[in-house]
Amino acid sequence: MTQEALIVIDVQNDFCPGGALAVADGDAIVPLINDLISRFEHVVLTQDWHPERHSSFASVHPGKAAFETKTLHYGEQTLWPDHCVQGTGGAAFHPALKWSKAELILRKGFRASVDSYSAFFENDRTTPTGLAGYLRERGLTSLTLAGLATDFCVAFSALDGIRLGFDVKVQLEACRAIDIGGSLDAMIAKMRDAGVALA
Ligand SMILES: [Zn+2]
Repeated sequence: MTQEALIVIDVQNDFCPGGALAVADGDAIVPLINDLISRFEHVVLTQDWHPERHSSFASVHPGKAAFETKTLHYGEQTLWPDHCVQGTGGAAFHPALKWSKAELILRKGFRASVDSYSAFFENDRTTPTGLAGYLRERGLTSLTLAGLATDFCVAFSALDGIRLGFDVKVQLEACRAIDIGGSLDAMIAKMRDAGVALA
């Protein structure tokens, strides 16, 4: 257990029903995640944390609507409704999430020009968030992931974790998906092929 860490991905108001980028049933996972938090010795939370007018927001791209894609300087980016703006209630953790045990809260997506789905790398796939160094320095090599959303931030984090040499398990019943254009099935297959344990 001492080498294990729970990584709770983006359980924030904007990703829950009533939020700006609500994931269907997103709040239903909170009791399951609280149970996981109580069972793990080491807990890390991630928090999507964008400045206003972030480049992933459809509202800053004239003629574009949310959930369309656009090629940005690092490649294709899905455009989202404005969400998880720094310091707003939407960016806060779900009020029922028992977050106080977290040893680290890792914020991501704070650079205006690049999004960050993964807890490890921004969407240019080269800029590290620092999480891998933190986990390695603490000897935390076995990671269990849960949170929002399965097919974006959870999956990208899981795939990067494997690529970086961590053991990675995704607790699927404690995740919910956005699922646009078959993204859930595609990312489940990618995770399975990469060696992510799907529980
Ligand atoms: Zn975001």
